[in-house]
Amino acid sequence: MNTQTPATSPQFDTTFASLPERFYSYAQPISVANATPITHNQELAQELGIDLQWLTSDEALQVLAGNQTAMGSAPMAQAYAGHQFGTFNPTLGDGRAHLLGEIVTPNGERFDLQLKGSGPTPYSRRGDGRSPLGPVLREYLLSEAMSALNVPTTRSLAAVATGETVMRQSPAPGAVLTRIAPSHIRVGSFEFFSRQGDDAGVKTLADYCLKRHFPTLIASPNPYLALLNEVIERQAKLIAQWQGFGFIHGVMNTDNVLICGATVDYGPCAFMDDYDGDKVFSSIDRQGRYRYNQQPGIGQWNMTRLAEALLPLLDSDSDKAIALAQEALSSYVTHYGAAYQRVMSNKLGMSKPQPDDQKLTQQLFTIMTEHKLDFTLCFRYLVDQAAIDESHQSIEDAFSAPDELLVWQKKWQLRLDKDPQTKAQRYEQMKLANPVFIARNHQVELAIRAAEDQGDYQPFYNLLEVLKVPYNYHSALKKFALTPMAQEVVTHTFCGT
Ligand code: AMP
Ligand code: MG
Repeated sequence: MNTQTPATSPQFDTTFASLPERFYSYAQPISVANATPITHNQELAQELGIDLQWLTSDEALQVLAGNQTAMGSAPMAQAYAGHQFGTFNPTLGDGRAHLLGEIVTPNGERFDLQLKGSGPTPYSRRGDGRSPLGPVLREYLLSEAMSALNVPTTRSLAAVATGETVMRQSPAPGAVLTRIAPSHIRVGSFEFFSRQGDDAGVKTLADYCLKRHFPTLIASPNPYLALLNEVIERQAKLIAQWQGFGFIHGVMNTDNVLICGATVDYGPCAFMDDYDGDKVFSSIDRQGRYRYNQQPGIGQWNMTRLAEALLPLLDSDSDKAIALAQEALSSYVTHYGAAYQRVMSNKLGMSKPQPDDQKLTQQLFTIMTEHKLDFTLCFRYLVDQAAIDESHQSIEDAFSAPDELLVWQKKWQLRLDKDPQTKAQRYEQMKLANPVFIARNHQVELAIRAAEDQGDYQPFYNLLEVLKVPYNYHSALKKFALTPMAQEVVTHTFCGT
């Protein structure tokens, strides 16, 4: 007798399909030659209420490779536009992604379940709709690392190898990623309608976002202004978090900015190793538009594009609408400033900001720049200084402090002596703000090379496990904490499109 209960496939409840047809195109993923599982995310499946037995079944493999349509799913590609490197592109859209549908978790939260690399759609233009294995593994690692750092982000539920070859600079094995997001609605989704003069489309999309993401704002006196303010606040806070981890997104085009405030599109992104405010990794960002120090300002530029699209909804009088938008946009600076200050206070163990903190922080960054100090290890070294008991694992010789830093530390210590919190509180605060493990480029690259060149996924699995617990150091994991040696340094990252 078979005592096993049959696996239950996810139940889709796709509200996006209730929107007018010009918002998307129904499109079937294209089957692949030989779907093979690479990994699936059990913890995430559990949070989402997805049956693990299903996720590991052959049916799930076929669904997540695009070979079979899931029960109750009507796959679609979403329409959007966007500013790419400052230039408006009216027709983007999901050119290599299919939304299989929305799922509702046991605690009532709604998420998109999307395949990426699942074949061409009506928005593919000249693209093949596919993704090489490397970028799929990269997105999987980086998004899960960000999630473990508590940064709002899309997540990765599964990766499947297609058994096909994708042609890029050189031929590469193909793969499909299953991406989970609170929604994939972008700033560029609003621009898509706004730039066509389709005010009704903008309103429909704004109403949809309010209902789906910000239901409490519907009762505001001006719900569309409240929507704009909320998106601005989330974006400012998100970018402050990126800055705190040395994360460089690399391609902050408006089509890569989600309304829900989660990080999306891990293409040519990177966590920096040695600190340099002008750092750029993206191979396509030749002017450094999206360099580390520029990210906060670009965030406001992107929010300005959203505000422009929402103008007709803010007030029927266009002068009043512009004034409201300007006020909302100026709040970005306030939100960012406050969020960044919180991030830095946490990193440096301060509970009550003081006027000179900014100067002290700036001095630290100057030392880090001059000595090319590893961003992550330098802050983690400061956690070691604040450690209070034996159970703390110091990073020891993984980082060596130059004399100037030792001098700075004395000033920092004097500042901390004036702070009201206990040493134990400080240690906890700093520990959670200063990971020891980040998704380092050279480690990510090693994992990708092993998978692409030798079909060996073990380095990918090992790195993923480490990145899931970014705060707890153990000497056995030392190699994952180290800054790269000169010959290991990865200077450029690619989008893989
Ligand atoms: P991204 O660089 O991933 O943000 O993509 C920018 C735009 O190019 C989006 O509209 C994508 O859907 C599209 N795109 C990227 N790669 C491909 C591809 N291989 N095939 C078709 N469209 C693509
Ligand atoms: Mg994109």
